[in-house]
Amino acid sequence: MAYDQIWKQDEENLNNVEKIKLRRDGLDVVDTIINKYSKQGLDSVSEDDKILLKWAGIYEQRPKTGQFMLRVRINTGIMSSVQAKTLADISHKYGRDYARISTRGAVQFYNIEINDLPDIFKMLESVGLASYESCGDCPRTVVGNPLAGIDKDELMDTTDIVNEVNNFFLLNRDFSNLPRKFKISISSSINNPGNCEINDISFTPAVKVVDGNEVIGFHFRVGGGLSTKPNMAKEVDAFVLPEDVLRVVVGAATIFRDFGYRKSRNHARLKFLIEDWGVEKFTQKLFEYTGKLPSKGIDKVENWNSSYFYGVNKQKQKDKSYIGIHVPLGSLKSGQLTELAKISERFGDGFIRTTSSQNIIITGIKNSDIDEVLSLPIFKDLSPNPKTFLSHLVACTGSKYCNLALADTQKIGERLASYLDSKLKPDTPIRINITGCPNSCGHLHIADIGLQAAMVKSEDKMEEAYDVFIGGKLGPGAQFAQKLKGRVKEDNLLSLIYMFVSVYLEKRDGAESFNEFVKRLEISFFQEILDNNNH
Ligand code: SF4
Repeated sequence: MAYDQIWKQDEENLNNVEKIKLRRDGLDVVDTIINKYSKQGLDSVSEDDKILLKWAGIYEQRPKTGQFMLRVRINTGIMSSVQAKTLADISHKYGRDYARISTRGAVQFYNIEINDLPDIFKMLESVGLASYESCGDCPRTVVGNPLAGIDKDELMDTTDIVNEVNNFFLLNRDFSNLPRKFKISISSSINNPGNCEINDISFTPAVKVVDGNEVIGFHFRVGGGLSTKPNMAKEVDAFVLPEDVLRVVVGAATIFRDFGYRKSRNHARLKFLIEDWGVEKFTQKLFEYTGKLPSKGIDKVENWNSSYFYGVNKQKQKDKSYIGIHVPLGSLKSGQLTELAKISERFGDGFIRTTSSQNIIITGIKNSDIDEVLSLPIFKDLSPNPKTFLSHLVACTGSKYCNLALADTQKIGERLASYLDSKLKPDTPIRINITGCPNSCGHLHIADIGLQAAMVKSEDKMEEAYDVFIGGKLGPGAQFAQKLKGRVKEDNLLSLIYMFVSVYLEKRDGAESFNEFVKRLEISFFQEILDNNNH
């Protein structure tokens, strides 16, 4: 460790997790898992390490019977077919044939036993993957453009930059004790697939004339995040050359490490420091680490695709296409993952890619092979052209496995989507995101319709209900979904969302999107529908 833990001076005011991290670095837990806990079992895990297990990429799942969720970093969603097959093997051997794509494109397994972790770590390492620091107070899986390298809409291929940043931070003990998680997004796509506004630091495409020549680089934002206090990342007035991205991320992570808040876990993300300092002060401090950067150039973000890539689409390589397929609620069987890997080897470029919308892309398919690929049986289950509500529905893990969940978000998601599908045939996507607690892993604030599980008192008992949010989007005109007043019980929820969608389909102005419709009619219109139908 090559830095001073300056926050140690104020030890008595630190939160409990901080006090544990002063005693032991989170990354120490990996060796202890391998050498002790996997052999002696869960009862041998020390109280401190129960907190630090996250640094190895595991959380104890629900119900608390000693099994774990394990998350594997898939940076910007890109994995080779060999890596995908290894993930499928892990799922088959240790995870009851189940794997789930997260809203950062990571791959998660459940029902993992602690004694199997050394084997799993080895299997991951053998193909260049890791679960380390996919959870915990560290730089997490880097998100960005899952189409990097093949995208007609990107200014440059960001794969090497993403790998450079990931390789620098992974297992780097100078940055394994941050005040909280640190989320990085790097994309050069004009479609903002990396959700730049909701990351701690995010890079988006830009150009600038330097010494008479137009050069491609990045703009960047800091301090984004969701959870109980959602915050749009703020733009820094700087232009970053591709070779300087790592330097800027390191500078920002250093500021976060040394000046971020460590008293309350709820007030520790970078966004709170940015809120107090303001962007100018942050920028001045950053330049002490990076040197002064040139001011902004021309921003090149034009749209927001919300990380959906369905269908057959042309790549920048003229004779090749990619196929975006729907993975319902991000849930895959190990056999499906193996099959997709095999298809990518036989017909594609040997890579498959996960997305923040919890789906998969198979890339590098010769245009002449597309029909043959589409005729394969797997695409009956994983559709490239889904026309259902479920195809634009994201749900967090929910109460099946997550200890914090107030509802089974997966189940309500399926119920809601099939109810809507039985009644409506929308010709345009309506994005519904569901989250089981205020942590917002299901990204409800950026959805057309966001639902957050909560409880309401009904006579003498507490019942499951939902807070309803509408009108969220990122990209140009970004705004978080606004919360309607009044919690809605599950029985009323289905009919209420049906009313919202059907009124949109009936009254929309031409090709107006749901989001534009919400803006035009204003939130009071929807509040009235809710008030009249929430019994
Ligand atoms: Fe669990 Fe809450 Fe995250 Fe859902 S949003 S997975 S309930 S922590």
